[in-house]
Amino acid sequence: MTGLLQLNAIAKSFHNQEGRDFKVLDGINLSLKDGEIVALLGKSGSGKSTLLRIIAGLLAPSEGEVLFNGAPVQADSHGIAMVFQTFALFPWLTVLENVELGLEALRIPEKERRKRALEAIDLIGLDGYESAYPRELSGGMKQRVGFARALVVNPSLLLMDEAFSALDVLTAETLKTDFIELWADRKTPIKSVLLVTHNIEETVLMADRILLLDANPGRIAAEVRVDMPHPRDRQSVAFRNMVDYIYMLITSGMPKRDHSTPVPAAERGIYDKLAHVSPNQMSGLMEALAASPYHGRADLPELDQTFGLGTEDVLQLVEALRLLKFAEVAAADISLTPAAKQFVDSDTQKRKQIFSEQLIQNVPLGAYIHRVLQERPGNHAPRIRFLARLEDHMAENDADEALTAVTSWARYAELFAYDDNTEMFSLENPSA
Ligand code: ADP
Ligand code: MG
Repeated sequence: MTGLLQLNAIAKSFHNQEGRDFKVLDGINLSLKDGEIVALLGKSGSGKSTLLRIIAGLLAPSEGEVLFNGAPVQADSHGIAMVFQTFALFPWLTVLENVELGLEALRIPEKERRKRALEAIDLIGLDGYESAYPRELSGGMKQRVGFARALVVNPSLLLMDEAFSALDVLTAETLKTDFIELWADRKTPIKSVLLVTHNIEETVLMADRILLLDANPGRIAAEVRVDMPHPRDRQSVAFRNMVDYIYMLITSGMPKRDHSTPVPAAERGIYDKLAHVSPNQMSGLMEALAASPYHGRADLPELDQTFGLGTEDVLQLVEALRLLKFAEVAAADISLTPAAKQFVDSDTQKRKQIFSEQLIQNVPLGAYIHRVLQERPGNHAPRIRFLARLEDHMAENDADEALTAVTSWARYAELFAYDDNTEMFSLENPSA
């Protein structure tokens, strides 16, 4: 069976500043069938936009092929349209003119262009705004223009790149619901939708299938089917359970390691990715979790809503607490460990001591830098030494972020110091 879209073993590498290759996507196989909405869920930097650009024929993959309707995709393949996170409207053109622009490349006569643009505007609920200028529109209306511009070419495949993430929650909600209604009523020729996002709820609300994208390099790590009819009720038990389940899949996979080259056993863990989360944020969350109404245990999605941080921030915080063994995560529940409870009940000096112990025992990079500093004459070493080492096995950004994270944790814990001017690490207390 040939689907609408078929990706075969797609890989993509970019060069970093030193001219070394790093792999952003690897071994991506995917086929989209008529009538389905597929979501690709991944953290920022996992290669989602890169993959969409490859699918749209705007970027060539390093390996593999993209077949659209059975033929290799090209930048001018008809039938594919994309909606972006930012609206990219021309401020000096009206809504109608901005939408018509989508048809420019198709060399369609002016009369026909106008007719189709008006239809698309009508369909997406912009009726009456044809002659308005972008500056007169709210963010939600601007994104409706973005949708109209995509719909006007009568695409059979619609790609959405975080199409709702620049909008406030309520506006995003309305637009998602409106789009799903269009889709369910088959009011457009769109046969399939591929949407990429880092928002779990969005995938459960919209998709028939959710693919979880791992990072470094981006690979499809898991696939989840969502067998719920549209429109979906966010408050229903089935919906909440599905959100919890996906949280669990994501959190149980953390932390991720880069596998591009084999890492010697003695160094294992040093190259684990670390998100830069401040000790302040961590103690804040521990204190909140220890207090009422949580008493040491909470539901992750609920936590996300309570703190209003956005899924990604909460996941990073949770990941850091888990790594330092201040928290355990099972299914979609987070619970504080005894070390965390002791931390919360202690004064500042004792807190630093506990943090230092957790850091040495559980964060290999922290322990490694500490060990090197102990062994070195004078007990100091330049940051660049560690950075260069990490970059052997990690993408440049990740190496930098891991070092920054460990530095801020070690400073707080007074395990070792870092001088921003000389860019040198040193031991706080060499005899320790
Ligand atoms: P996402 O959309 O999931 O946030 P992207 O596809 O934008 O991720 O980026 C994935 C990775 O590829 C990032 O590390 C990014 O810096 C890198 N990247 C993207 N485009 C380029 C490029 N043209 N040259 C070099 N690196 C790039
Ligand atoms: Mg992106």
